[in-house]
Amino acid sequence: MQKALSIKDFRKKFKTEEDCLSYLVEAKWGDGYQCVKCGCEQYVKGRQWFYRRCRKCKYDESVTANTMFHKCKLGLLRAFEIGFRISVKKKGMSTNELAKEFDCQQRSSWLLKAKYQNAMKSSNKYPLETKVEVDEFLVGGFDENKQGRSPEAKQLVVLGIEKVTDKRGKITIGRAYAKVIEDASAKELQPFFEQKVDKDSKVTTDGWRGYWPLKKDWSIEQVLSEKGKGQRISGIAYPYYEY
Ligand SMILES: [Zn+2]
Repeated sequence: MQKALSIKDFRKKFKTEEDCLSYLVEAKWGDGYQCVKCGCEQYVKGRQWFYRRCRKCKYDESVTANTMFHKCKLGLLRAFEIGFRISVKKKGMSTNELAKEFDCQQRSSWLLKAKYQNAMKSSNKYPLETKVEVDEFLVGGFDENKQGRSPEAKQLVVLGIEKVTDKRGKITIGRAYAKVIEDASAKELQPFFEQKVDKDSKVTTDGWRGYWPLKKDWSIEQVLSEKGKGQRISGIAYPYYEY
């Protein structure tokens, strides 16, 4: 039920641009493809493996199109890691720090950080609704002293993401919330649900028993995790983190 997500794990998971693209492909189209132009659900191979071309109108969509990663100058790998760093550090990182650490111009890190923060801000007002996935995992630590991680710095985080359907019925990742919790008991999970998960939503979680009591108030479907399946959630590590 818990997934340790430390910088080491993160880097193991995202080694190349291709890893990031694969991740985005799964996040964007894992639940099915739908053309953003005409709504057709059938596609053929696009100009590259991370493109999908609509069978009907021939629109060839890149996996990054219509996402904050489109034409990202820093490259996906750095963009992903910056997102990771922003999301695990309590007070965030200054654009200066980010620019230094990722060897890029401050303007680039500023732009990217602004994008992440915008996504965070706009997600902070309303409870997640409709289709929601909730999971818990360990976030392993950057400690404040920069010298890498210590086991004590690990925190258990509950993460909720919303799967939204746009005008054309295409499913995409919407908002996300995360919260540090003491343990994965129902007592700890409940307040997160109260604040962040609309009671009319259909929630999916793993098989963890801490969710059982919550089934009284929320419609929760528990899916036993298959190998590698949880990665999709732990990879979506760029939500607004509330500490
Ligand atoms: Zn189309």
